Amino acid sequence: MAVLVIAGLVVSFAMAADIPQFNTDKSWDYLIAQCGFGPRNPGSQGHSLCQDYLEYELRKYTDRVYLQPFTHYDRRLKTTFYMNNIIADFGEGDGAKIILCAHWDTRPRSDMDPDPANYHKPILGASDGASGVAVLLEMARLFSLAPPPVPVQIILFDGEDYGRVGENWDYLLGSKHFAKTADPADYRYAVLLDLIGDQDLEIKREYNSYKYCRDLQDKVWRIAEEVGSHQFSERLTHPIIDDHLSLIEIGIPAIDIIDIEFEYWHTQGDTPEHCRRESLEAVGKVIVKLIYSEEP
Ligand SMILES: [Zn+2]
Repeated sequence: MAVLVIAGLVVSFAMAADIPQFNTDKSWDYLIAQCGFGPRNPGSQGHSLCQDYLEYELRKYTDRVYLQPFTHYDRRLKTTFYMNNIIADFGEGDGAKIILCAHWDTRPRSDMDPDPANYHKPILGASDGASGVAVLLEMARLFSLAPPPVPVQIILFDGEDYGRVGENWDYLLGSKHFAKTADPADYRYAVLLDLIGDQDLEIKREYNSYKYCRDLQDKVWRIAEEVGSHQFSERLTHPIIDDHLSLIEIGIPAIDIIDIEFEYWHTQGDTPEHCRRESLEAVGKVIVKLIYSEEP
């Protein structure tokens, strides 16, 4: 019996050694760095500078980084905007990939701000944009240290938050473009991170994910319990329109990890002061365990 126990310990130590640890400070630095470019709405200088930064950072960790360009014509402004999804591949083999994704653009208007004078100002997007990307850049760094057991594709979508309320055709631009080009057979499933920087993080079960991809949601919530991420809650949200829907529509199972009840959502207050590094850690730990416990 003692031998079995010792053998078990040896095995678990060996597995633990293969799984790198999520570095919360590095992830937080990625959030701050993105905010350092200012608002990153399409057409802005911050957008252009941040795109170069994200591509540069990802290239540190893999040489398989691709830009997926597309354009969007805003019929109100009569202007064409140039956007790019940023895609990076990790892991070996030609098996179906797991997508880890987030949007990297930020909203061009603060239409939930308590002060109407701020309505036309772009948001900084510390939680709404930078937080999900910050966790994924840290995942990219980990993948360069310890290759994932299955192929993983990190996708940073552009143009998620461009739309005006009630005009859904101007939302989810990058993920819709990606979905037009993707073959669902190439993918196992997708996990989307959005608005996860909230200082009072509570990640309820997003309703569309619950309705369409319950098994995957159950799996992720089970892991959250195992790693002690108590910010994941069993309560349900309303159905949220987000990039995961573009993937579900073409047959890729996808869930959204999101805290939509961020007090500063779509306001000038979406800044690092209203985010917490522990929130990034709570999600990062779950994603690490999810990926590294996959079977090849
Ligand atoms: Zn948003």
